Amino acid sequence: MTELQIELISVGDEILLGHTLDTNFHWIANQLANSGYRLRWHSTIGDNESDMRHQFRRAWNRADVVIITGGLGPTHDDKTRPVLAQFFEDELVTRLDLAKRIEDKFAARGLKVPFDSQKMAEFPSRAEPILNKEGSAPGIHYCEDNRDLFSLPGVPVEMQEMVTNYILPKLNEIQKGVFHYHIFRTAGIFESGLNELIGSPELLKPVELAYLPSIDKGVTLRLSVSGEDEEKTKSILAERADQVRNLISDFIFTESEDSLAEVILEKMRKHNLKLAVAESCTGGLLSNNFVCVPGSSDVFERGFTTYSNESKIELLGVEASTIEKHGAVSGQVASAMAEGALECAGVDIAVSVTGIAGPTGGTEEKPVGHIFFGIADKKGTYTESHRFDGNRTTNRRRSVLTALTLLWRRLKEQ
Ligand code: AMP
Ligand code: MG
Repeated sequence: MTELQIELISVGDEILLGHTLDTNFHWIANQLANSGYRLRWHSTIGDNESDMRHQFRRAWNRADVVIITGGLGPTHDDKTRPVLAQFFEDELVTRLDLAKRIEDKFAARGLKVPFDSQKMAEFPSRAEPILNKEGSAPGIHYCEDNRDLFSLPGVPVEMQEMVTNYILPKLNEIQKGVFHYHIFRTAGIFESGLNELIGSPELLKPVELAYLPSIDKGVTLRLSVSGEDEEKTKSILAERADQVRNLISDFIFTESEDSLAEVILEKMRKHNLKLAVAESCTGGLLSNNFVCVPGSSDVFERGFTTYSNESKIELLGVEASTIEKHGAVSGQVASAMAEGALECAGVDIAVSVTGIAGPTGGTEEKPVGHIFFGIADKKGTYTESHRFDGNRTTNRRRSVLTALTLLWRRLKEQ
């Protein structure tokens, strides 16, 4: 099966100015990958007619499918529609059906169509409109010379609806075949460690293996395969997934999209366990990871943000002498924080974090990035320390993932 060559062009000055993050690119690339397609090229251009013409030409010459987002709105900087019509040596004609839809959209909000917005019903004569269910500017589909070009609005919800309900089904018509993927989400191991356990990706052929590391989510492994036959494709994927699972089972926390916090909460909910956290350098980030999950109140009892020494003493009952003797950043204080949280909150398990996030505050003995973790439950208290080499933000984010990993491990032992 030959792979479709897909090119994406993001249009908009706001992207080149760094004002808007190109989330459309990220979202589209991900949707394509999850449907068995791979983006081959991506570029970003401003609202500039000559750059548009140049880039459209380049993409049309080399790609089977071109997707453009942005520049379809009603304002003077939105030029994709006329530039596309010119590029295809086509003309814009007023489409009454599109004008009516736009009118209805505005009427539903009790508004008259503004003069500028009427322009959006001027549509290239040889193209197909892609109806906009979330907004007013229709998308444009040219299918010529055995190639397809889709031009979508920049507004994320509008373009997302069109990709899901129009482009992906069209791509499935163009490229027959089946595609399946399987993910393993891991914690407590780096990419290199997983790579060592799994060995050469050649051993998994025809299944492809991708390592997707993330500072907040751990390393995700994605196995994917395309083929002609549904049953055969599924069975080879299942076989290779078994092979990988056997090699890395100790590190897999889920084979779904669930986050580590979700997996922890689910497990604790099942065993009717309650959780508290005591945080110093992460300042609420760890609690936030749990509270982000709907229904977390069944399990997450409370979070203590105890940044100062006084708060550790007052809220968690850490002994002043422990802090004096070992320092607030120490295994002893991490341990006392976890035990204090366990007792004060009256929960089944408590996790603590205390460390030096940086950039200041490090010493030779306890450098920046040195973080201590504690876990207390009825079996006792366990502490661990890690040294991270990032900046303040990454050290704090790594600390959260590490605390979650330690908690997940502790729960596995239950
Ligand atoms: P436009 O279709 O160019 O009028 O874009 C409308 C709005 O969509 C812009 O003001 C941006 O806020 C947003 N937008 C445009 N392009 C992107 C993109 N690539 N990623 C995320 N948002 C975008
Ligand atoms: Mg724009």
